[in-house]
Amino acid sequence: MLTDLVQIKTLGEKKRVENERFRRHLKSRDHSDRILRRLAEDVEEQIDCTTCANCCRVANVHITERDVERMTKALSISRKKFLEGYTAESEGEGLILKRGEAGCVFLEGNLCSIYESRPAICEDFPHVVRGSGSIASRMWQLIDRATYCPIAYNSIEAFKVETSFKR
Ligand code: SF4
Ligand code: SF4
Repeated sequence: MLTDLVQIKTLGEKKRVENERFRRHLKSRDHSDRILRRLAEDVEEQIDCTTCANCCRVANVHITERDVERMTKALSISRKKFLEGYTAESEGEGLILKRGEAGCVFLEGNLCSIYESRPAICEDFPHVVRGSGSIASRMWQLIDRATYCPIAYNSIEAFKVETSFKR
């Protein structure tokens, strides 16, 4: 299991073209989502996110109205104060959590300071084991996540072996 973030970045970038080919391979054949999910669960069980937190450092977090409600309640502040203090507008993604040099505004060390009330997108991240639609339909997001997330990277590699993908 590869967990070194420098190697994941290098290999994830190097394999972008191969992974794009793999995405088409998965879409063009009828693979069992249940088996792929089980493989991803196995990868997830072997990786401790509290020693990584790389997604919280590098990825933007899009938030919904429901997320805003949950977080303002948890922080006991007004919606106005929450929007001013903790969010920003992104051109492509809409409302996102503010980010500093260390990443997400709620990241403390490797831990989320608002864990119980974190946005839905964080709960399901990196959307390999959990997410809407089939794993094949989520592959377009996973190719990018495989450049910084060990769960995404190792799951894709396990899927290639399971589906006899020729590199
Ligand atoms: S989801 Fe991926 S990037 Fe985020 S902490 Fe877990 S292994 Fe690291
Ligand atoms: S809200 Fe928490 S889990 Fe989500 S990116 Fe920020 S620190 Fe990470």
